[in-house]
Amino acid sequence: MVRARQVRKSFGALQVLQGVDLEVQRGEVVCLIGASGSGKSTLLRCINHLESLDGGRIWVDGQVVGYELRGGRLHEKSSAGICRDRTQTGMVFQHFNLFAHMTVLENVMLAPRTVLRQRPAEILPRALALLERVGLADKAKAYPRQLSGGQQQRVAIARALCMEPKLMLFDEPTSALDPELVGDVLQVMRDLAASGMTMIVVTHEMGFAREVADRVVFMHGGQIVEQGPPAQLLGDPQHERTRAFLSAVR
Ligand code: ADP
Ligand code: MG
Repeated sequence: MVRARQVRKSFGALQVLQGVDLEVQRGEVVCLIGASGSGKSTLLRCINHLESLDGGRIWVDGQVVGYELRGGRLHEKSSAGICRDRTQTGMVFQHFNLFAHMTVLENVMLAPRTVLRQRPAEILPRALALLERVGLADKAKAYPRQLSGGQQQRVAIARALCMEPKLMLFDEPTSALDPELVGDVLQVMRDLAASGMTMIVVTHEMGFAREVADRVVFMHGGQIVEQGPPAQLLGDPQHERTRAFLSAVR
């Protein structure tokens, strides 16, 4: 579903991604871990072309993201083309960024209506089913401010799913939540993983990674240092950097 080859990204003189290779199979759940500043968010943002690349290439479901071949060279797509690429990838951020002046249901229905130009009658059953799925059917008419952080994050997940993406990217979805609200969000993500969704999850929730991930990828200094099944990577890390990181977060 995802193939990243030799992805490079700098901000000014700072090389944030230094030749990242990553493949994610259809239906696979990959947890991305690593210290703050190691490039995890930037990598996710590159997969959705929220950042342009300085080198390398990323494919989602066989299509190059954000770029097209013209005159034998890769050029960045038009904003419409980039927008179309993004519709196949759902993203959930640490801060849920719901529209405050819209109800929960309106938030969930907005992108299919405006981006995919679907009719409300077509979106509504799907939106309601998704709210049911994230345990918020009774909050459809509520406004974001009336919800807890955990509920808002579950709305954000439903909103992303309403675009019927092929791939879901999560960037520390529970890091901004009070501890007692984390469990419900992780449960929604666990159910989504069980349903066969392809997911890349940046998280510090090692319990979630151990239980749900098919593979854990450890990043350091803009590179993938080590990856493997959770039991192996978390239980018996081979690289000194991985060991140091894991002992710091435990
Ligand atoms: P992580 O998610 O692993 O904490 P990030 O990908 O957010 O790491 O950031 C990696 C590095 O890139 C950090 O040093 C960060 O300050 C820097 N960085 C990220 N985004 C930008 C940006 N838009 N402009 C300048 N520097 C950035
Ligand atoms: Mg980050």
